[in-house]
Amino acid sequence: LYRRPVFNFAAGPATLPESVLLKAQADLFDYRGSGMSIMEMSHRGKDFDSVIKTAESDLRELLSVPDGYSVLFLQGGATTQFSAVPLNLCSSPADPADFIVTGSWGDKAFKEASKYCTANLVWSGKPNNYTDIADPTDPNFLLRNNQNPDARYLHICANETIHGVEFKTYPAPENDNGLLVADMSSNFCSKPGDVSKFGLIYAGAQKNIGPSGVTIVIVRNDLLLGRPQPATPVMLDYKIHADAASLYNTPPCFGIYICGLVFADLLEQGGLAEVERKNEEKAGALYGAIDGSDGFYVCPVERSVRSLMNVPFTLRTKELEKKFVEEAAKEGMVQLKGHRSVGGVRASIYNAMPLAGVQKLVAFMKDFQARNQ
Ligand code: PLP
Repeated sequence: LYRRPVFNFAAGPATLPESVLLKAQADLFDYRGSGMSIMEMSHRGKDFDSVIKTAESDLRELLSVPDGYSVLFLQGGATTQFSAVPLNLCSSPADPADFIVTGSWGDKAFKEASKYCTANLVWSGKPNNYTDIADPTDPNFLLRNNQNPDARYLHICANETIHGVEFKTYPAPENDNGLLVADMSSNFCSKPGDVSKFGLIYAGAQKNIGPSGVTIVIVRNDLLLGRPQPATPVMLDYKIHADAASLYNTPPCFGIYICGLVFADLLEQGGLAEVERKNEEKAGALYGAIDGSDGFYVCPVERSVRSLMNVPFTLRTKELEKKFVEEAAKEGMVQLKGHRSVGGVRASIYNAMPLAGVQKLVAFMKDFQARNQ
């Protein structure tokens, strides 16, 4: 039996399930007796048609996607969606859209959207170094924080990969059409969710569901008006991709194939409720180790919004953090360095990180503390 030599705590591209990689290995050479690699088949042939249709129906089952929504397999990463969303949902750059910014990714989305709409910052966690989220269930939150009733949509980043801040409940948009849009790149398929609360969800694949190169968009059909802003590139026009069932041009076939294997694996595990249970167990163990360290390890994020996926923490000095990351790597726990913009340590514990990986990290943390107290 193949055993991977390391536990990979990278934020993305991130670790994928062993079972998926093993299946893919066989299909790399000969996809189910076709004599062709999965990478060599026509995207319009019957084999790939089945790959993409099964991937879509499995994803619909996992997330209970309602009938009135389209699921698109696109390219360009979540970054491309930062512009695609306002280009499709705002009829001109004069149209307003609201943004709640809880970390660097939400900030990037806000800044990029500002080129294509009149972007309004409703609330920002920046003054607190992105360590909390104003409670969006507090009825005063919306009043205090100037949502624009004419905004075309309200945008959030559901999980901030760098800062480790995750929405646990979603804000109710006060705009005319009640439209909420979410970047779910780093917590997509990590727990059950109510898609009907959103007008549009997008996610890059390379954290929970596959390799980089695939971007999923789930969009409510009444938003596919086919009237994007006039200069919208064809590749960013949702209606064109929806009408062509994500085959307007050559899609990222291999990436979609891997996503399909991951969706099937998540269903086999028992669906997203079971996936969430596992993720809570892993995150509980890791945050417990941090909080139980008498301040040797510190997670700056307010407890109620701590991410189940990305766990950032700091040690006393930069030197000690460097030593921690280096020694962990020697013991087979890799890619633990914090994002270059914030430093520290970050353990990304996506769906495919086994509990054994987190337990090994927790044991190492205790040992490291005892040696460096
Ligand atoms: N949004 C979030 C929450 C992310 O974590 C990332 C990447 O890490 C992005 C957007 C950007 O994604 P991409 O590199 O696929 O464009």
